[in-house]
Amino acid sequence: MHDDRVVVERRIERELWQRILPHVYRERRPLALEAWHVPGEPVSHDHAVAQAFEPFALGGAWGPPWGTTWFRLSGDVPADWVGPHLEAVVDLGWGMRGPGFQAEGLVWWDGAPLQGVHPRRTAVPLPQAGAGPLSFLIEAAANPAMPASFRPSPLGSLDTAGTAPLYRVTMADLALRDDAVYHLCLDVEVLVGVMKGLALDDPRRQRLLRQLERAFDAIDVRHVSGTAAEARRVLEPALELPARASSMRVVGVGHAHIDSAWLWPIRETVRKCARTFASAVRLMDEQPDYRFVCSQAVQYRWMEDRYPALFERIREQVAAGRFVPVGGMWVEADMNLPSGESLVRQFVHGQRYFESRFGVRCREVWIPDVFGYPASMPQIYAAAGCTRFVTQKLSWNKQNRFPHHTFWWEGIDGTRVLTHFPPVDTYNAEVTGEEMAFSERNFRDHGWSEWALMPYGYGNGGGGPTREMVERAGRMRDLDGTPRLQLGTSDEFFDRVEAELEAGAEAPVWRGELYFEMHRGTLTSQIETKVGNRRCERLLREAELWWAAGGALRDDVAAELYELWADVLLQQFHDIIPGSSIAWVHDDAEREHARIAARLEELIAAALARLGVAEGEGHVLANAASHDRVEVVSAPDGAPVVVEVPATGVVPFASVDPSSYDDRVVTTEHSMANGQLAVHWDLDGTITSIIDVVRGRELLPAGRTIDIELAPDQPVEYDAWDLESWTAGLGAPIAGDAEVVWLERGPLRARVQVRRRFGRGSTMSTTATLAALSSRLDLEFDVDWHEQEQLLSLMVPLDVRADAATCDIQFGHVRRPTHPSSPWDAAKFEVCAHRFVDLAEPGFGVAVLNDGRFGHRLFDGGVRVSLLRGARYPDPDADQGRHRVTVSVMPHGPGLHEVLTEAERLNVPLRWSPGALARGVQVVELDTPAVQLSAVKRADDGSGDLIVRLYEATGDRTPVSVRLAVPVRAAGRCNALEEPGATIDVADGFVALTLQPFELVTLRLTT
Ligand SMILES: [Zn+2]
Repeated sequence: MHDDRVVVERRIERELWQRILPHVYRERRPLALEAWHVPGEPVSHDHAVAQAFEPFALGGAWGPPWGTTWFRLSGDVPADWVGPHLEAVVDLGWGMRGPGFQAEGLVWWDGAPLQGVHPRRTAVPLPQAGAGPLSFLIEAAANPAMPASFRPSPLGSLDTAGTAPLYRVTMADLALRDDAVYHLCLDVEVLVGVMKGLALDDPRRQRLLRQLERAFDAIDVRHVSGTAAEARRVLEPALELPARASSMRVVGVGHAHIDSAWLWPIRETVRKCARTFASAVRLMDEQPDYRFVCSQAVQYRWMEDRYPALFERIREQVAAGRFVPVGGMWVEADMNLPSGESLVRQFVHGQRYFESRFGVRCREVWIPDVFGYPASMPQIYAAAGCTRFVTQKLSWNKQNRFPHHTFWWEGIDGTRVLTHFPPVDTYNAEVTGEEMAFSERNFRDHGWSEWALMPYGYGNGGGGPTREMVERAGRMRDLDGTPRLQLGTSDEFFDRVEAELEAGAEAPVWRGELYFEMHRGTLTSQIETKVGNRRCERLLREAELWWAAGGALRDDVAAELYELWADVLLQQFHDIIPGSSIAWVHDDAEREHARIAARLEELIAAALARLGVAEGEGHVLANAASHDRVEVVSAPDGAPVVVEVPATGVVPFASVDPSSYDDRVVTTEHSMANGQLAVHWDLDGTITSIIDVVRGRELLPAGRTIDIELAPDQPVEYDAWDLESWTAGLGAPIAGDAEVVWLERGPLRARVQVRRRFGRGSTMSTTATLAALSSRLDLEFDVDWHEQEQLLSLMVPLDVRADAATCDIQFGHVRRPTHPSSPWDAAKFEVCAHRFVDLAEPGFGVAVLNDGRFGHRLFDGGVRVSLLRGARYPDPDADQGRHRVTVSVMPHGPGLHEVLTEAERLNVPLRWSPGALARGVQVVELDTPAVQLSAVKRADDGSGDLIVRLYEATGDRTPVSVRLAVPVRAAGRCNALEEPGATIDVADGFVALTLQPFELVTLRLTT
């Protein structure tokens, strides 16, 4: 046989797209258009319909960036057009970009949302039954298409986007769909996809080519409508051949990834959800097998508040098991940057919402698009009742291919969750034969499992599954040459895999973090969004603690704290807190953080007043940290004083006589020292020596200094997301004249400041502080940053030899390599750490602590802390302006106790409050520094019980006793949702238990 495969395949493709597809509609007639252009931000349907619409000509321009136009489409249905094939077909001016990345619309029918329209969903089947006049509305959103290739763009902010219209309406027709042509196109698409997914020498591939060729021979392109049915008959045998017995099984799960903000602000996401969800429930009316899984409880909440009619339809379909809440989280949050407590609350808020509105509790975590997964996640999932986990992001890894698709993921405390990476390597599959073939080829666990999941539907900017995807899926249910595809839910997929495991199959195990080998710049980009989150997390901890201290919580305060948590959780979405959104989103985030923080300060003041802090002379001190502290702080008048405050305690301020402690700071012109550290610097203020006086060790290697470096930061792609391996190495210490000034030189504290100018008009002051009683050298950076595409970092060289560094993560730590020996180690050239990174030999270590940074680079002999970037895409002015952060260097002996205590002190500073207090208060007392508090709060059920969430932070088996100010009468463990678990025997009014390494425990205590 002659090989004409290539030319025949090209014939099929061209004829399908150019000669057959245009005949999907048998007849068309134009609809009349009228428009009302919204003068500002979006308005409600009721508001819009009351406006004066004006005639709008086809081809007319509409839509300045982010503008909204309401179109009214009207026409007359001829009597012989009535029936199920009557549709409206619209083109709002779609360009080349996909759904969700350009203009989109919501069709309103009879006052309620009917469905969305976008470049791949242009048809609106019309619900109207009879002939005669009809009319409906489209709320069209002129969302701009951000430029490809990561070029900086002014489109991401209303202030800079301009007012020129972006789109022209090019089609608004009433049309009659030709069923035979429509289904012929789908038959051909599926068979072509299957054919192309097969090996060239596969007999099925060769036979399909001839079957398709014969079908195209049967079509008369001058009379497609009349010959399509015959072509379908030719293809029938090809579509009836059943799948091979050994072919894999795929559960196709309908989904629409909707980034809660990204290249659009939250206000637009609300409308994206309405468009996408309306389309999803509408498709359910047509396609009985279709299932749609939907994560992010906040998005349902938006529908409940803004689109009640649509929400009711969603609720009906949830009850029917077709619209399926998944993920159990408030948003698909970033996993690297939020605190452990925040991640717990993501689940508390998500699961509670789904349970209260739908009676549903999710068993799986659904975060397909998040930039890395810390090793403590499994126990957080378990605490929230989730035993299953879906993501696919690691398929983007640039260096190493992950070895499994279905496996047990084991966390730092030993908890395991059944994890699946859909082998289609996307969460936006379109249900093609090529994707199915790729899934089967790519899947690494055929040896023990025959099931895979395929999330399909347009996503990122929403859109979701189309009827064509569902139609194609139906054709691949049992078809030779492709895996068997059934439509279903993630639950159905995991049930199948669990059945395989119960039948004796053994899944592989991956222990430790799921490090993402990309997007490392998101640990630093838009740093103020991250710092704002961290501030709000701390204030929420304080507010809950101090309100928990004084008996039963007022209902209104409980409700408000719950809502403030929800507002913080929203901003932890995986394009907001990572810093990968347009300017609009980050402006919103920073404004939200400021509002939330201000309100929490008020609530904290009110809580302290309730504890008895009354008007009067003096001040009180509140310590929200897990452990007692004795330290030098600035009194309200600025003077350094020594104070003692118990853990979770509030006490009247009384300065401790410094002479009761045997420590003093002494200074010379270029040095300062206390009983623990001696620090030296050179003429321009560069630190040249830090000596651990107690252990007699120099921290810095000979000839090395602590340097602030500036490096060109131009990622190959994904500017705000990515940090390249070579970037930090291109850096040089910032040069220029330095001004060195003493701010303070007393026996309790010395502070020396170095001021520098650098780059394009940036300035930086670095204040080095050494206080009595402290083993920390604090370096406070205050930067006015005007650099772009530059990385500012702090290089701390250390004379410590260590194969691995200890990095603080949520509820524990991980050890990461300090050397690039293996490809997996080499890929970890920038890693996330929360409050500290520690380099240690068995008897001596040095920790580098921070109060607001995450990105670190580890060396065998140093740590680099990423301080600032200035990416230009998608926000061309990211990170410009004023920034403050403290990084501390601290030597220590064996173990982590001192490091943990200091890391918490640095991040939970003592709070001063004016007023008098008759008697001190202490809420919780722990008897070991190895255990840290994550939250102390009143139970959400209003019972008045105290919830204490704590964790073992060192990786050791640790006995701990938990005491309250009054005797504990009853105690039990509970899950994150505060549902009771095992009871704990209470002896002598306190709780004693032994924690496993890194164990996370939530206690419910009754007094
Ligand atoms: Zn996403």
